[in-house]
Amino acid sequence: MAAVLEIRNLHVSVDGNPILKGVDLTVGQGETHALMGPNGSGKSTLAYTLMGHPSYEVTDGQITFDGIDLLELEADERSRLGLFLAFQYPVAISGVTLANCLRHAVNSRRKANNPDDRGMPIPEFRRMLKEKMDFLQMNHDFAGRYLNEGFSGGEKKRAEILQMAALEPKIAVLDETDSGLDIDALRIVSEGVNKLSGPTLGVLVITHYQRILNYIKPSHVHIMLNGQIVEEGGPDLALHLEEHGYDWLRERESGVVAA
Ligand code: ADP
Ligand code: MG
Repeated sequence: MAAVLEIRNLHVSVDGNPILKGVDLTVGQGETHALMGPNGSGKSTLAYTLMGHPSYEVTDGQITFDGIDLLELEADERSRLGLFLAFQYPVAISGVTLANCLRHAVNSRRKANNPDDRGMPIPEFRRMLKEKMDFLQMNHDFAGRYLNEGFSGGEKKRAEILQMAALEPKIAVLDETDSGLDIDALRIVSEGVNKLSGPTLGVLVITHYQRILNYIKPSHVHIMLNGQIVEEGGPDLALHLEEHGYDWLRERESGVVAA
């Protein structure tokens, strides 16, 4: 059965300030959704909440993954269920190479599924890593560098996609994977996501700009404004935004409040 991420009436506060005010969103394995919205609308808040960041307090609503209550689970448990988040601002970890980080992530996933697992043999891990780096057009030297330390914007995003490729999630949330990328890096990262896409992967692409959606084609588009999803549609909606911006939605929504 295909995995489904279901968000129902989600309310989230940060430092006591309500940010998300009743979000409903369903992403199934095999589907590609885009969550768009202006800066400050709450997109990253949703992404962090999905992954269980402790600063984001869920005050109402539910999130389930295959019917399992995600809100009861720690971030690592959510990851093991098959949820992946690519960060908008990936952190640098000095002293930990990208290869080491990935090997630990892959092995802890295997161990969670089978407590007797001794980890992926190193030659097999190296082969897997090289294969995935080749398809993301990453230089192999990358694997030996400290995670994100001194990486350019494009390299950081590629490293995030490499982690996604290695962990093989069922549902991946990509928060502003396009930000800070030049057009070539954007194309390579998008191609990476497209190659990973298929019946076993559901993707939620979070973006401010329509640009990445020229490469990653969403079947569903959702627009967030002030912590709520105010418009939904197909790929045409992203094109409409490209042309008209977010103002028509701001005006419409403030009109509703004033009426
Ligand atoms: P987006 O990703 O759509 O740009 P965010 O989710 O980052 O939006 O932010 C939504 C709102 O929540 C903004 O008004 C932002 O200032 C506020 N916010 C987000 N994170 C925090 C935080 N850690 N502390 C205080 N306010 C926050
Ligand atoms: Mg954001």
